[in-house]
Amino acid sequence: RTVYLNGEYLPETEAKVSIFDRAFLMADGVYEVVSVLGGKLLDFDGHLVRLKRSLDALAMQNPLSDADYLEAHRALVEKNAITDGLIYLQVSRGNPGDRDFAFPSDDTQPTVVMFTQSKPGLADSPAAKAGIRVISVPDQRWHRRDIKTVQLLYPSLAKMEAKKAGVDDAWLVEEGKVTEGTSNNAYIIKGGKIITRELSHDILHGITRAAVLRFAREAQMAVEERSFTIEEAQGADEAFVTSASAFVTPVIEIDGKAIGTGKPGALALRLREIYLEESLKNAR
Ligand code: PMP
Repeated sequence: RTVYLNGEYLPETEAKVSIFDRAFLMADGVYEVVSVLGGKLLDFDGHLVRLKRSLDALAMQNPLSDADYLEAHRALVEKNAITDGLIYLQVSRGNPGDRDFAFPSDDTQPTVVMFTQSKPGLADSPAAKAGIRVISVPDQRWHRRDIKTVQLLYPSLAKMEAKKAGVDDAWLVEEGKVTEGTSNNAYIIKGGKIITRELSHDILHGITRAAVLRFAREAQMAVEERSFTIEEAQGADEAFVTSASAFVTPVIEIDGKAIGTGKPGALALRLREIYLEESLKNAR
């Protein structure tokens, strides 16, 4: 693979970052994942807006212009001949040359890394057709989940918990209510109404979430932004998750209880179609 590191395109084996990089020592970095379908970037502008929001929230410099980010994404798609896949982008507070809790001075340049992951047939993954099964686990992450930091240890542990239980993913629960999935936003549908937790510091403001809710409202579907319990979700007609890599993926089982018919729900599948169709229209 050809990867991007601080303005250079390098073979992945030659892209090296210091052991003193703040991302390595402090998880002091933010990231984005953009999907590529047919060589085009989905929701690119939304991801860029959120990147800048994450950087701002952590008082981190933004090292590149919007045009630079777009150019680098397109260059990586081209250099790696990506048709379908993902582009990972990370910006860290850089390498101060030593370890210290205090932020380095402003002359420490952020470290910018981008790489591709080829996923042929990303839009017709088996998970989308079959639906996924989830378990609930306590949400033990920090309380600024709206900032997309590389501090992913807890979601990683939760994912392993799900694997150990023989299912696909975990939904995180705090004070009795579902916050979101390990790497996606969580939804239920009851009586035709789409229900998903409202935006706050408690969840990541999903770019796919924003698009799906917009398309749902445009299609005259009812949307309610509020939190819900696992019990309510288990009694729902349908459930699903959204993310840049999963698009809209139906959830068919929660903590061993089948949702609705136990098969992917019709509305969830319809939302997936609408999302893919509409997003591809504006893909870059
Ligand atoms: N919540 C969490 C915790 C996530 O990690 C992600 C994906 N990065 C999402 C939600 C979905 O966000 P998006 O639609 O922007 O990919």
